[in-house]
Amino acid sequence: MALRRERPRTDGREAAHPAIELRAVRRSYARGGSAVHALRGVDLALPYGSFTAVMGPSGSGKSTFLQCAAGLDKPTSGEVLLGGEEISRLSENRLTQLRRSRIGFVFQSFNLLPSLSVQQNVLLPQRLAGERQDRRLAKELLARVGLGEHGNRRPGQLSGGQQQRVAIARALITQPEVLFADEPTGALDTRTAQEVLGLLRQAVDSMGATVVMVTHDPVAASHADRVLFLAEGELVDELADPDPRTVAERMVTLTTAVNGRYAGAAA
Ligand code: ADP
Repeated sequence: MALRRERPRTDGREAAHPAIELRAVRRSYARGGSAVHALRGVDLALPYGSFTAVMGPSGSGKSTFLQCAAGLDKPTSGEVLLGGEEISRLSENRLTQLRRSRIGFVFQSFNLLPSLSVQQNVLLPQRLAGERQDRRLAKELLARVGLGEHGNRRPGQLSGGQQQRVAIARALITQPEVLFADEPTGALDTRTAQEVLGLLRQAVDSMGATVVMVTHDPVAASHADRVLFLAEGELVDELADPDPRTVAERMVTLTTAVNGRYAGAAA
């Protein structure tokens, strides 16, 4: 299939390097007179063609992890590598370029531009990156997400699930090395969520995409190859070939342990 051959656009990095690697990544925020340690030394390597879910109790550092891994935020110390290239010390301009061409994003709130057509939304990352707008690829991606007939509509004319499918097509148009999804099903009903998760799975299986998804939903996480669990800024557990029940059980164990520590500290 044409898309499969074209992607991921890694210029040979695929064989030699993980898609994303974090080395001893720490991120602290100053709050009042003290520091909040959102990430306390995270090490991981995610291969190309993998689908990883990241879970953890509220405040465990999931958003901070995603922001650092995706080059939206810089670690306080440590390194983030995209296809073997260190990105954590790049200038803002270089990071912006890199995010436009080598990273795809899908957010809970879709973030489509209401005044553009569906097809124009899908083409937007290429337009912003100053690349040739590949209308044929946009149409092919829209067909893949089941919206081949909707290219001329406006996002407001589509359901939430359809809008998220447009967002997935948009995230894939630049054939990014990694697609980051932040609670992509958080605003969707169960059935629509399943469709969107199936599309992310399909992007990995049939298009060779690499997906990293933050979610609080064990059913969503079970679509991934591997679930990583964060607690208090550290990777504390992981689960391969996850099923919803085991994921939910691990989350209960983790949340109870974290809450127990707080209760212990307060006593
Ligand atoms: P999660 O996504 O798992 O809920 P976050 O990454 O949002 O966790 O937050 C981890 C910790 O870092 C929390 O204690 C949070 O309050 C803190 N934090 C996150 N962002 C900031 C910020 N901009 N300023 C100060 N503290 C922050």
